[in-house]
Amino acid sequence: MVAGELLSSEGHAALDARIELMPGPTPLEFLPRFSEAIGAEVWAKRDDIGSLGLLGNKVRKLEYLVAEALRDSATVLVTVGAAQSNHARATACAAAKLGLRCVLILSATSSKVPGGNQLLDLLFGAEIEFVEGDSWDLLEEALAARCDELRREGQRPYSIPMGGSTPLGALGLARGYLELAAQLTDQKITAEAVIHASSSGGTQAGLELGRALLGDGPAIRGIDVAKAPGILEEDVAAIATAAATLLGLERSWSPYEVTLDHAQLGAGYGLPTPAGEAAIRLLARTEGILTDPVYSGKGLAGLIDQVRRGVLRGPLVFWHTGGTPAIFDATHAARLLETLSDTPNG
Ligand SMILES: *Cc1c(COP(=O)(O)O)cnc(C)c1O
Repeated sequence: MVAGELLSSEGHAALDARIELMPGPTPLEFLPRFSEAIGAEVWAKRDDIGSLGLLGNKVRKLEYLVAEALRDSATVLVTVGAAQSNHARATACAAAKLGLRCVLILSATSSKVPGGNQLLDLLFGAEIEFVEGDSWDLLEEALAARCDELRREGQRPYSIPMGGSTPLGALGLARGYLELAAQLTDQKITAEAVIHASSSGGTQAGLELGRALLGDGPAIRGIDVAKAPGILEEDVAAIATAAATLLGLERSWSPYEVTLDHAQLGAGYGLPTPAGEAAIRLLARTEGILTDPVYSGKGLAGLIDQVRRGVLRGPLVFWHTGGTPAIFDATHAARLLETLSDTPNG
């Protein structure tokens, strides 16, 4: 993995300090029928497929987080998330593979049968505990309290915040950007931008850092699926700056350097939008590739919208961050069924 001349040997070592949870580079695939349908050349970076627990972008962060957990001799991974958290599922999966205990603290839902990601959490052997309400602050408080309790029981908990979006976790996406850049060079593609769903900020921060390491490459455009305008820009800038420090790099980001589109959020995090659902149908029916109503569908809707408005012309890379298990959650499945015939082609 070449990261330019910027990194010291310590920086390279930090970028290499991971536990491999992925089988190698994820595919970069051209989407011919989707491209034709929207009028721009689009490629997909397929972080949604692979060998471990349905992958997704969270696995890239976990490669670094879990390496730290093992250095700390942790006995249990503890994390938090929404009821259908992909990050929680990916953590449960990584814990299973490494033989660690896993405690997940999730927002309670009304549905009585655990579907989608929660079914997978249980299959991976994680213990799920519920917190009423979906305030991210309440979840983080519950995480700290549960870790204290586990310590009193003689366990060594490794605590992972919402989305795994720590500076260390972001290194996984910096590495991901370098991986993509090598694939683009191999295939002789000069991409205009990378578009992806953005929520807790670690993915976008890591991609920004990767781009800074190369000093070149397609711009990063996040599609906000979680926060009010302004907040996520600050989170991304702070995480990217701290992640650069981990590599011994003196580079800082201001929120104004972070590009985010807030037009796809709709009524809020986790709530489907007609544009997101139309994007899900269009990609499914042109390429046979699945996206989800919480993240990747809204991310794709942002890409389509920016092409239609002439903001982007292509070639583009849609970073497919995963999230597909959520469509098997009863609420999401019912809603998707209702909207299937909304418009013939997206
Ligand atoms: C978590 C997640 C994102 C957003 O990544 P962040 O690092 O939290 O911004 C996007 N897509 C999917 C499917 C996710 O699970």
